[in-house]
Amino acid sequence: MARYEKRRFYKRKEKMIEKKILALILILWSAQGFAQSQAEKEKIKELEMMRQMERTRKVTMKMDSAVQLTDEGKYQEADAKFRAVLKSIRSVPSDLTYHFGKNSYFLGKYRQSVDWLNKYIQLKGTQGRYSADAIAWLAKAENELLKEHEKENKHAAEVLSGDYYIDCGPTGKVVCPTCRGSAVVVKKNYFGDVYKDCPVCNKLGYLTCDEYNKLLKGKLVTEPN
Ligand SMILES: [Zn+2]
Repeated sequence: MARYEKRRFYKRKEKMIEKKILALILILWSAQGFAQSQAEKEKIKELEMMRQMERTRKVTMKMDSAVQLTDEGKYQEADAKFRAVLKSIRSVPSDLTYHFGKNSYFLGKYRQSVDWLNKYIQLKGTQGRYSADAIAWLAKAENELLKEHEKENKHAAEVLSGDYYIDCGPTGKVVCPTCRGSAVVVKKNYFGDVYKDCPVCNKLGYLTCDEYNKLLKGKLVTEPN
């Protein structure tokens, strides 16, 4: 009877050990799985970082070559390259705002230049690598922009004859400027010259002063011919 008890005791112990081994295997296996997925995550992260670096490197290269084009005075080419960079990126590096603003100045796009140079100064203040230059170029661009505005204002202030009623003198008539008084106009076609009644003065060769003033303003209704 005692021997039988002993055997049962050992059998139970064996089973317990078996269970423990199974549990251990399970733990090791899941730990390995965890480690593996962790390693995979790390790898993906690393790849993403490399991709990001590659993108940044390409953008920097394009930007550098655009800056070089500016330095060589090839402003149009530089502009095209800057635009390509701007299209290809989601966020604009602060240096690009300076370089693009400066190149815009050389192209005579002063409003665009002021806009981008201001961006750089807003981002970097006075401590940026290009702050001093940006401030100098901005002053120049603003000056040019001001000149343009003045020119536009002068243009708007021009006095043109079309805005006034012209006194045609005591006759109240003016020789028709279209047919020079001949009442006919010459039109050329495939067969040679064709003479037609003047559509402006209604075959009279002259205009009344009202008609003449309307003609000057582009408001004289002429007969279709
Ligand atoms: Zn006429």
